[in-house]
Amino acid sequence: MQLRDTYGRVIDYIRISITDRCSLRCIYCTPTTSAPHYDRNEVLTFEEILRFVVAASELGVKKIRITGGEPLMRHGLPELVREIKAIGGIVDLSLTTNGLLLPAYAQRLAAAGLDRVNISLDSLLPQRYAEITGGGNLTKVLDGIQAARDAGLTPIKLNVVPMRGINDNEIESFARMTLLQDIHVRFIELMPTAVIGPEYTATLINSSEIHQRLQQIAPLLPVKLRLNGPARYYRFESATGVIGIISAITCHFCQDCNRMRLTAIGKLKPCLFSNKLIDLKPFLNNSSSIEQLKDLILTATKLKPQNHNITPSTSTLAMSQIGG
Ligand code: SAM
Repeated sequence: MQLRDTYGRVIDYIRISITDRCSLRCIYCTPTTSAPHYDRNEVLTFEEILRFVVAASELGVKKIRITGGEPLMRHGLPELVREIKAIGGIVDLSLTTNGLLLPAYAQRLAAAGLDRVNISLDSLLPQRYAEITGGGNLTKVLDGIQAARDAGLTPIKLNVVPMRGINDNEIESFARMTLLQDIHVRFIELMPTAVIGPEYTATLINSSEIHQRLQQIAPLLPVKLRLNGPARYYRFESATGVIGIISAITCHFCQDCNRMRLTAIGKLKPCLFSNKLIDLKPFLNNSSSIEQLKDLILTATKLKPQNHNITPSTSTLAMSQIGG
């Protein structure tokens, strides 16, 4: 079974947000006017999430990413991982995290069947990291990266959002990490979510500039990876790790988009930048059948637009609420 949208794209990847709460307040992610958190009884239970995964996997979904908010803040995550893996059909189960709690959880997550982690890290300088994240502790993230490596949650992918005048003088330091470490350093174009308008335009570093700046370090050799996703990958000659560039905005990859998002309160969003969604929450308890759920997922797939039409000023999204 394959889940196809109106434009023939196969949808086999779902990002599931399990909480809108986060231990950090990254400047580009969380709006400064603090959005209220969802009530606990609005947030999907693990049972509801599992019913969704059963239906999605029967429709051909093979990849799941658990995200948030900060997913490690949700109690019992290793158990959810174990149960998702037990459903079968999910060949790639990953987690996006700020890494702070990985020293405590990495081994348990790996034992439960988690395949790998993406860790967000926008500076290698302690003071700057704290400023970007609203007080985060860099040492703890670096310990988290090591814990993930020790637990075999590999390949470890670092998500870096380069921002002009904020951390762009670290593009080179991040890229150099790949010389000796078996790591994927992925530069992600800033999206206009919490930062919009002229401030967004001034802060955005587009993917071609990132590419150019990396080429000044050493020639970039294109790399084809098995699960490429939206990133274009490169390697410096004889480097151990790889570099990814994700141009979500300027050179969008809508034609290859294979994903949908389930928010922490059960809204199924076929496109990050579209307001069209289907509220699955009322159908995720036992009163609806898996067949009904599958019909609703199919309906959501048909709402997926051909392209996003985001502009620097149209977005009022908070990634912490949707799930990054
Ligand atoms: N708390 C987890 C973390 O820190 O990775 C997961 C949630 S976070 C919303 C997921 C990813 O979204 C992070 O890698 C973050 O950098 C990215 N993200 C959030 N807002 C973004 C934006 N405006 N532009 C680009 N990436 C963004």
